[in-house]
Amino acid sequence: MCDCIFCKIVKGDIPTPRLYEDENFIVIRDINPLCKVHDLIITKKHIKSVNEIEKEDEKIFASLFTVAKKIAAMENMAESGYRVVVNSGKDSGQAVPHFHAHVLGGEDLKGKLQGM
Ligand code: 5GP
Ligand code: ZN
Repeated sequence: MCDCIFCKIVKGDIPTPRLYEDENFIVIRDINPLCKVHDLIITKKHIKSVNEIEKEDEKIFASLFTVAKKIAAMENMAESGYRVVVNSGKDSGQAVPHFHAHVLGGEDLKGKLQGM
């Protein structure tokens, strides 16, 4: 039984509104947004970080950027632009050890969020 917070959100043990869901990912709003739009694309499978992605997981990640593109369109920032960020491991500052990609935008991010 995994007690990881994102596994609990994926399983529905911690009820969290989903902006999007498919067989591989859920997308939720970040609880502590760092800019106007801050969403998280979370794998349904518990994979700790980029460093724990195995060959067999490649099919999961094939659609990661098309999910990011869908979210950008849903959040009306396809034209204005946005950032997709993945932290991996200690020196990156990764706080939750379950793969997630941040989708950030809704405002001008040039020169911002360098320390996230
Ligand atoms: P990391 O630093 O691991 O790349 O980012 C983890 C992100 O998850 C942070 O931006 C943090 O605010 C967010 N987060 C942590 N716990 C929760 C939670 O329970 N719900 C939501 N929606 N976001 C969370
Ligand atoms: Zn997990």
